[in-house]
Amino acid sequence: MKNSPEYCISGARVIDPSASTDGIGWLRVHNGTIAEVGLGAMPAFDGPVVTGTGLILCPGLIDIHVHLREPGGEHKETLETGCQAAVAGGFTTVCCMPNTTPALDNIEIVKDVLQRGAAIDLCRVNVIAAATVGRQGRELVDMSALKDAGVVAFSDDGDGIEDDDVCREVMKKLREIDRPLFPHCEFKMISKRGVMHAGPTCSRMGLLGYDPRGEELMIQRDLRMVLETATRFHVAHISTAVGVGMIFRAKQNGLPVSTEVCPHHLLLCDEDVVGADGKPDPNFKMSPPLRSRDDVKACIEGVLDGTIECIVTDHAPHTADEKQAGFMDAPMGIVGLETSLACAAKALIWPGGFGWPDLIRCMSTNPARILGLEGGTLQVGEPADITLIDPGREWTIRADAFRSKARNTPFDSWQVTGKAVATIVGGRPVYLDDSFKWFAGQTR
Ligand SMILES: [Zn+2]
Repeated sequence: MKNSPEYCISGARVIDPSASTDGIGWLRVHNGTIAEVGLGAMPAFDGPVVTGTGLILCPGLIDIHVHLREPGGEHKETLETGCQAAVAGGFTTVCCMPNTTPALDNIEIVKDVLQRGAAIDLCRVNVIAAATVGRQGRELVDMSALKDAGVVAFSDDGDGIEDDDVCREVMKKLREIDRPLFPHCEFKMISKRGVMHAGPTCSRMGLLGYDPRGEELMIQRDLRMVLETATRFHVAHISTAVGVGMIFRAKQNGLPVSTEVCPHHLLLCDEDVVGADGKPDPNFKMSPPLRSRDDVKACIEGVLDGTIECIVTDHAPHTADEKQAGFMDAPMGIVGLETSLACAAKALIWPGGFGWPDLIRCMSTNPARILGLEGGTLQVGEPADITLIDPGREWTIRADAFRSKARNTPFDSWQVTGKAVATIVGGRPVYLDDSFKWFAGQTR
């Protein structure tokens, strides 16, 4: 791909939620940073010009919840294939969850992931470290040292921190070092390690039910501790109506809380788990599971009213063999990096009531603000991390065309509208859709 120290992108719909900008305009990149941005006609410029007509130009998308499987899960995904999938989905920054083998719970392993992520040189790679050693929920990791190594948040994702005393200690320490807790809220004693949402479909299929109270009760307990400790608190992948209601009230009471939802929890419910053949499909199995229709409705409403301010993928690659183990035995999780934008648009924009600026706020500006990351803005002087989106592009999701190593998606063969056509990190195009020509409008 051709690079240039200086170029302009012209004629695009420039959307920057951080400045409430939305209008046809242009942007100039110089030495990897945003040098100038404006609405209206582009001033005279004697350099290469990328034609952005018909496209949205926005701050690069940021996914703060991905599983890139290194170390220990390289057969499912690697940092390299995960970053390839991310940029193809329009993401300029990702944050890796620590439930790897071994867990991302010490400086050496965190530095290794950060260094190798940087060496791949596609999107920016951040690390969310484990909150407890080995994610065992007993002994705290060295949070101060991990913060100094660049860790942006802490989570035992995959598991909740069940012990009250340990959770309180984690929150106190995080308050002290000013890093957020990013919890996977689930009491496994209560969710009972079920395989799908406990409801009528689950009963009819005779499967082990995944009780939503596991999520609800841990959010409730944690919010009491947030009140006590004033720790910044970002609930991972919320999925229940009761949970959304609790976050809504906590925010009204002024607690420093935020949350996120995955596109699959906005588009699919427990009834969808059963395929046309009458059998449950392992590509519809994840944690938290697909919930009831009422839960889906509550999650959508939560995004619309701002209770849920981030959309994340929870990108969780598994091999075809692993997923073919049958619904009971297949591992939890689905991939999402290459489908997230189009699926979120399908859930939120096309039904009406939610605009592209709203979606970009949830997929870039808010995630950056909550974790204190670079990006999420088109402010002059910031790194030129930019996504160009063709909002009208109709396409068919093809799992076999993914750049991810994995194919485990419930969205294979779905017809969707809206696609990232160029992903630019530090001014450099790291992904260009086949349909898109860089410097197509070059005039000299
Ligand atoms: Zn999780």
